[in-house]
Amino acid sequence: MSQLSRNDLIFQKELPESLDNIECPICLQVIIEEPCQASCCGQHFCETCIARVTTSCPYCRASGHNFAVFKDRNFARFLGSQIVYCTNKERTGCEWVGELRQIRTHLSENCGRVRCPHPGCPEEYIQAYKLKRHQEKECPARPYKCKHCGLKDTYIYIRQTHYPECPLFPVECPYKCTTVAKIPRCDVQDHLLVCPLSPVECKYSALGCLMMPLRMNSEEHHLEPHTEVLVETCSRLLCRIEQEKEQSKAEQSNLQRQINYLNTELNKMRADLRSQHDLLHGKVYYDIDDKLSQLIVKHEKLRSDHDQEFIIYIAMI
Ligand SMILES: [Zn+2]
Ligand SMILES: [Zn+2]
Ligand SMILES: [Zn+2]
Ligand SMILES: [Zn+2]
Ligand SMILES: [Zn+2]
Ligand SMILES: [Zn+2]
Ligand SMILES: [Zn+2]
Repeated sequence: MSQLSRNDLIFQKELPESLDNIECPICLQVIIEEPCQASCCGQHFCETCIARVTTSCPYCRASGHNFAVFKDRNFARFLGSQIVYCTNKERTGCEWVGELRQIRTHLSENCGRVRCPHPGCPEEYIQAYKLKRHQEKECPARPYKCKHCGLKDTYIYIRQTHYPECPLFPVECPYKCTTVAKIPRCDVQDHLLVCPLSPVECKYSALGCLMMPLRMNSEEHHLEPHTEVLVETCSRLLCRIEQEKEQSKAEQSNLQRQINYLNTELNKMRADLRSQHDLLHGKVYYDIDDKLSQLIVKHEKLRSDHDQEFIIYIAMI
């Protein structure tokens, strides 16, 4: 473990004077882990150093029941959390700042190392003398430009994510024809329209040929007799015509049944309508007859009344 004396340490905030005695008088190192305190004089020691002493206090020489030792966890907590600069700050320019309890780890593992300035770099610390090379040649997060389309991003993004989809990235013909060297990815579709090794539909595909000859063999294929294919397609068509005939016959008789049914319904409705019409007329005549005979009766009565009055009148004069 690296040696650490009080004079090596530079605290961000000066320690209070009463707590400034932080060196073990036995090993002369700063006590960071497991400090113990002597009951006689209050002096702190490393646990491992004082464990070897049994008789008297190595600091004030007290002995017997005056001299007892106990662990001082509060002191450990307080001291361990103080912020210090790296002890090599002056010598090497190390910029590490951290809690005192971490300085030994820093000195043994990270001191003299620096962080890579590229955001997202997975390297935590790099030896200072290796940084330049790392930044320029090795860092996966270093700025990088796609040499095909000019897109700028990190090295790792361009290589792993962008290259597989860059439209200008040079690729081979998917059918590996030799008519072209590598072509930009975005030109592949156009190339396939002329590529001699790409499969094409037979021009008799509508007549039933499902072959996909290579473009360079397609002329030859079209010259081959397609008789078998044609015979098969024709018999399939005939079969379908028969089926459709049967079907339309069935549909026709179904329609005829519906027409008959509708005719019957129509006749029924006509008969209904006629009888309702007759009924209505009969009632109207009956009503008029009735009213007429009532009027005649009334008229007769009026006339006889009038005649009677006339007779009385004549009698009076
Ligand atoms: Zn010690
Ligand atoms: Zn003592
Ligand atoms: Zn350092
Ligand atoms: Zn880096
Ligand atoms: Zn690109
Ligand atoms: Zn090709
Ligand atoms: Zn064909």
